[in-house]
Parts: sequence; structure tokens; C-alpha cells
Amino acid sequence: MTCHEKEEIPINVVRDFDLMDDGDPTIPPMFACEKCGGKMYPEYYKGIHGIEYKLSDIL
Ligand SMILES: [Zn+2]
Repeated sequence: MTCHEKEEIPINVVRDFDLMDDGDPTIPPMFACEKCGGKMYPEYYKGIHGIEYKLSDIL
């Protein structure tokens, strides 16, 4: 989100992260960028709550 760096994160890792995060379900699990520490929004991800998140929806 900050420096536009892209990182491939395995879906099972994202899902595990999602399972541990019981916060707002409208916000997808977000990882911190290794380069700048900024939030990384998923390009596409369907969460455990059945909600789909698309980076294109928020840009
Ligand atoms: Zn970054």
C-alpha cells in the first residue's frame, strides 16, 4: 500500500492469519511490507467469513 512492493504469500498462510484475527471482518488480513513496513492489501482474497477482498475495489 505504501511503496507498491508486491509479495506472494501462500493462501494457507493468509488463512491462518485470518483465523487468528478476530477483528473487523470487512478488513482482510494484512501483512506488513518487508521493505517499508507499510500494510499490504491482498490483490485478491476470499476470507474465512466468505467476504471477497480485491485491491482494485479500494483503489
Ligand atoms: Zn512497502
